[in-house]
Amino acid sequence: MSSATKPELIDSFGRTVRDLRISVTDRCNFRCTYCMPEEGMVWLPRTEVLTYEEIARVARICVERFGVDGIRLTGGEPTVRAHLTKLISALAVLTVPAAANSPLAGQPIDVAVTTNGATLALVAADLQRAGLRRINVSLDTLNREKFKQITKRDELASVLEGIDAAIAVGMAPVKVNAVVQRGVNDDEIIALATFGREKNIEVRFIEFMPLDAQAGWLNNAVVGQDEIVSTINEVFALEQIASRGAAPADRWRYLDGKGTVGVIPTVTKPFCGDCDRVRLTADGQFRTCLFATDEFDVRALLRNGASDDAIEALLRRAVGEKWAGHTIGQVSFVRPRRSMSQIGG
Ligand code: SAM
Ligand code: SF4
Repeated sequence: MSSATKPELIDSFGRTVRDLRISVTDRCNFRCTYCMPEEGMVWLPRTEVLTYEEIARVARICVERFGVDGIRLTGGEPTVRAHLTKLISALAVLTVPAAANSPLAGQPIDVAVTTNGATLALVAADLQRAGLRRINVSLDTLNREKFKQITKRDELASVLEGIDAAIAVGMAPVKVNAVVQRGVNDDEIIALATFGREKNIEVRFIEFMPLDAQAGWLNNAVVGQDEIVSTINEVFALEQIASRGAAPADRWRYLDGKGTVGVIPTVTKPFCGDCDRVRLTADGQFRTCLFATDEFDVRALLRNGASDDAIEALLRRAVGEKWAGHTIGQVSFVRPRRSMSQIGG
């Protein structure tokens, strides 16, 4: 191991890195309007995409040397990559070092997946057997026509089946992510909240971010946290749950005891000051923020015979340069060159 004795990685603003988000592919079987264009997306050549062995090596370095205790697989759509269970099995055996400053010290890391759920009914049991304990499924509407309009696919029924399958195989928690767009699905906030209450799963409403591939994002298409919460509170009384720590969602509990609901307020109440996340893109670029304009080429090191020490040094340098936070809504904001599905949401 390098000079640091304690497995930790702290940026220049005092934030500790704990969470690694790995995009396993830039490809997807949906074309959500807020993420990808319907046609014309250019996929990464397969040779540029990290192998599972390469991903697992970066993950191991982050866990062993930095005390990362959570890894989330995303994309693109992670379930469209063949043999995803192989990667999950390789990650599920990683153990947080005993000396790490983590509630999971000495225990297996927390592995999670974010999926559109289209094929989840088919793969939930395999994912669970491979070691996946929790999952987030994206679902923005319960209306079949609107689902087609948003995702460009007629797959609402499959996604609903997928959510049921994840619950049935015992994944816990199962969460639903819903991106709220003004004039698109803001009339479904109560329907989605009700869905979560009935299924006993947490729905997390996400503010629409300027990461759509078509650069069509407008500030007035964002439905902010305050509006989402007051809309729900008018129908189902809510009480805020104290602190979110480094988690991106602010959370509320239903006063009638029917579970919890979350909001990820990236635009109206950025949580950059508590951010503990770093990201690895499908093509092996390390990013310290969704909105970062710089990337660090880990793939080049992986493929040039670099040592673990050299990879650790690159990741430490990247985190040393992590900025204080994004500036969405300010004149200084610069859209990242790549869109959501290419970075990994
Ligand atoms: N394909 C998977 C899915 O849809 O869950 C994983 C990748 S997707 C990029 C990850 C999450 O980002 C999803 O919950 C999706 O709804 C969200 N997302 C995509 N584009 C977004 C945007 N412009 N603003 C806010 N959230 C977005
Ligand atoms: Fe695919 Fe997820 Fe992007 Fe939708 S949000 S197009 S499912 S990557």
